[in-house]
Amino acid sequence: MEEIKQTTNYLYSRKNMKPIQVGDLIFDSSKPIIIAGPCTISSRDNLLELAVELKEIGIDILRGGAYKPRTSPYSFQGLGDTGLNYLIEAKKVTGLPIISEIMSVDQIEKYVENVDVIQVGSRNMYNYELLKALGKTRKPILLKRGFSSTYEEWLLSAEYIIKNGNDNIILCERGIRTFETETRNTLDLQAVPVIKSKSYLPIIVDPSHASGQAYIVEPMCLAAIASGADGIMIEVEKNISNAVCDKEQTINLETLKRIISKIK
Ligand code: PEP
Ligand code: MN
Repeated sequence: MEEIKQTTNYLYSRKNMKPIQVGDLIFDSSKPIIIAGPCTISSRDNLLELAVELKEIGIDILRGGAYKPRTSPYSFQGLGDTGLNYLIEAKKVTGLPIISEIMSVDQIEKYVENVDVIQVGSRNMYNYELLKALGKTRKPILLKRGFSSTYEEWLLSAEYIIKNGNDNIILCERGIRTFETETRNTLDLQAVPVIKSKSYLPIIVDPSHASGQAYIVEPMCLAAIASGADGIMIEVEKNISNAVCDKEQTINLETLKRIISKIK
């Protein structure tokens, strides 16, 4: 217990307010960062076409899953390395920074070389070996909250990365498991003020995985920004029928445009 307290204090009491940056983008709530893109990269053409439109709409970072942590081993697992290469190509074409989810320590080299932000998914928040290894890099890490994690556990996972040398961390609230079954998860917006009271780390909100349903995404994006979040991450497709995963929660470009203009 004593040891946990000490580690916790290290993060909580930290006074260093160094801004977390991805290229020229600064994660602070004065200008919320918009991360958008497909849940899963499905094809080169789809991704490139979507990426060009997203750039025009004015998003800040392009997302796209290449390796997907699916609940069922029988579900599509993502295009893997091929998908990641398409995302890298989309970055070259649009100039947008990119973010993608990492699964294991042996992928770190490729991710460090090619992506701007490495995403650690909800299911890997407790993968301490991965967190320690990411701590040895200097890449910005997006650390999603485990769907059954307390704030304390989440911050301690961040601390695994920090303790190993990398303090470029952005936290992401993505909904937690509750007794409610109508929505995929329950968006815990209290996370934003609570995390800000305990830590200097920026926090963004992912209403797509929290809600699981497209009609909830827009109001929750606005609520997230109102709560003081430093950004949002949204699953979007040009043509929703192209979504190979998480179709029900995917919004279209028109909705994304409206969200961005309302935020501004
Ligand atoms: C994702 O953002 O692609 C994802 C799988 O989310 P989570 O880890 O929050 O389930
Ligand atoms: Mn998804």
